[in-house]
Amino acid sequence: MHAQNDLKFLVDRTAGKLARWLRVLGFDVEYTATGALSEIAKLARQSGRKVITRNGSLAHRLGTDSILLRSEHLKNQIKQVVNLVGVEKCEPFSRCNVCNARLAGVERRLVEGRVPEYVYLKHDRFSVCPVCGRYYWQGTHWHKMIGEIEKTLGGKWHGDRSGRD
Ligand SMILES: [Zn+2]
Repeated sequence: MHAQNDLKFLVDRTAGKLARWLRVLGFDVEYTATGALSEIAKLARQSGRKVITRNGSLAHRLGTDSILLRSEHLKNQIKQVVNLVGVEKCEPFSRCNVCNARLAGVERRLVEGRVPEYVYLKHDRFSVCPVCGRYYWQGTHWHKMIGEIEKTLGGKWHGDRSGRD
């Protein structure tokens, strides 16, 4: 069920927090800190990304190559984007939320000494970001984020959709 989706986004600084959460949901999201509209438009064109912004003039300029966020609240923003693209496109925890790379599964024995010992002992499934080298596992933080996603988008996100548990 985890068909890799081909949606690519560019989030500008009017919606910075959203970038990380869309990555948590598995979307390919780049972030740009520039406020120069022509530069954002150029970046989007070059990378084939849809721009997500709170900036009306930018959205107007880009037309269908953009998503204009209606709310300033993060949860509503997440809902708007997910409803627009379809909840079935979400692939939670498949991507590094820091650098946007797709995570790769890693054998448990290779993780020993690289994550805290209690984590190593308690978990048997790990993945790693091939770019920044961060390790990911389904610990307390993961469960908290799943809880946030369930509160925001409704439905059940534990279980099959997220791999295990
Ligand atoms: Zn990373």
